[in-house]
Amino acid sequence: MQDELQQLVSSQGEGPSLAHRRCDNHADREAAARCPECGRFFCRECVTEHAGRVICADCLATMTSGADSKRWSPRMLAPYAAAIVGMLVAWMAYYYMGRFFLGLPHEFHEGIMW
Ligand SMILES: [Zn+2]
Ligand SMILES: [Zn+2]
Repeated sequence: MQDELQQLVSSQGEGPSLAHRRCDNHADREAAARCPECGRFFCRECVTEHAGRVICADCLATMTSGADSKRWSPRMLAPYAAAIVGMLVAWMAYYYMGRFFLGLPHEFHEGIMW
């Protein structure tokens, strides 16, 4: 097995990089990408795109498992968004109620006309 790999590598000549690398999980597959988190090489099946980067499944798991407590996530904004929407709705209600009640005396005033 090792000999086969060595022959393959030498037959391909120089050329940095992925062509000489094997997937960290699949010894018989060529690496397609390198995980920027752990620096290991993986085949296409072993990497996933996450937040614009291609990382391995292990790093993805560790990143997503600790995401809620350590890293910022859009979900953290949900309560604030709900509060803002609630305030907007309340403000709109007050606004239209205010217009309604402000409009009444005005019309009364004009209607009465001493
Ligand atoms: Zn990784
Ligand atoms: Zn693989």
